[in-house]
Amino acid sequence: MKKVKGYKCIICEYEFSLDDIEYVCKNCKGNLQVTYDYRFIKKKFKKSDLAENQDYSIWRYKNLLPVEDLSRKPVVQIGWTPLYRAERLGSKLGLKNLCIKDDGRNPSGSHKDRAGAMTVVKAMERKAEVITTASTGNAGASLACLTAALGLKTIIFVPESAPVAKIAQLLVFGAHVIAVEGSYDDAFDLCIKAADKYGWYNRNSGYNSYTREGKKTCSYEICEQLDWDCPDKIFIPVGDGSIISGIWKGFVDLYEIGFIDRLPQLVSCQAEGSDAINRAFESDGVIRPVKGNTIADSIAVRFPHDGEAAIKAIKESGGFSISVSDEQIIQAIPELARETSVFGEPAGVTPLAALQKAVRNDLIKHDEKVIVLITGSGLKDINSAMKSVGKPLTIQPDMKELEKIIPEELI
Ligand SMILES: *Cc1c(COP(=O)(O)O)cnc(C)c1O
Ligand SMILES: [Zn+2]
Repeated sequence: MKKVKGYKCIICEYEFSLDDIEYVCKNCKGNLQVTYDYRFIKKKFKKSDLAENQDYSIWRYKNLLPVEDLSRKPVVQIGWTPLYRAERLGSKLGLKNLCIKDDGRNPSGSHKDRAGAMTVVKAMERKAEVITTASTGNAGASLACLTAALGLKTIIFVPESAPVAKIAQLLVFGAHVIAVEGSYDDAFDLCIKAADKYGWYNRNSGYNSYTREGKKTCSYEICEQLDWDCPDKIFIPVGDGSIISGIWKGFVDLYEIGFIDRLPQLVSCQAEGSDAINRAFESDGVIRPVKGNTIADSIAVRFPHDGEAAIKAIKESGGFSISVSDEQIIQAIPELARETSVFGEPAGVTPLAALQKAVRNDLIKHDEKVIVLITGSGLKDINSAMKSVGKPLTIQPDMKELEKIIPEELI
């Protein structure tokens, strides 16, 4: 593959060729970054190619992806999710240029489909018979969904506390599901050991570098949807740190090939009980384990698996970090839904809670172009959503009863 140069370790910066290695650095066990020959890509790939391209999915960016043969890829549409101008929410926050990227609109309902699709293609390339991942729920639900119609066997390790809708997805799509009596981090370690022992292809975030290569497509879409006018700030929910580092990779790719002429600032949005990356970013850069306690299960991580790459992304972008409480996350669910018509899961709306805090703390100018990345659908976790709202009014089927309780504003 001429466009791909190889891998580079995020920590020791040692470089490897594609055949050298599969997952992490041989030297230091650091995570790898796929590197590209931008000069080669730049010659072949123009914005006008995209203008003519009718494939509205992540594969429209094939020239910037580490794939050659796409004859065996997921059959469902990945990516090209809507970017909405959020005028109502924006004016409430005093922001003139606010957009929502709704990645809950992917086939399995989360941003994880981008990484899932990329790693499924890689597994097919390697003629793997089984693919596995550890997951807080969404990465597994995605893999189960994308592999179902391809007949690729899938085994998923989740903490037994994962929201029931996510477990339902795993089972409905026919994955083998192992519910681990422990945390996501425990499921992660077990998954690595099992994959090593049985030779399964491993999709783990913060371990398999191709996850980042899928996640970065979100940035390509944001730029193309904004007609190549790069945003100023992007608010991103952060658990392992793989999405935020992937988003950064996407912008850097576009900058390197001359599709955009500047780069955005990334804002790392975490829950206060699960903020290892924000703590490290705000102090000495060293990641230390935290409790990993938050209602936002998709970002409940004790020790982030892609933390170094995430911190690098926040720093290089000149961005910052914001941690919010579970109460702030919960109130952001109906706030987003009522102001934008988009229903997000707790992790998915965490960037909105962080944006509200950033506005209160005067960290944003009113005319900046701000993107809030909503990473997962609200239907993923109904129990948390119900905590954010009251109960419906219940009555006998009788007009008199209705008259007693009907809200003034409706009559
Ligand atoms: C996985 C996930 C995240 C966090 O992504 P990381 O790569 O772990 O930082 C955020 N939101 C949702 C909905 C997710 O599924
Ligand atoms: Zn290394």
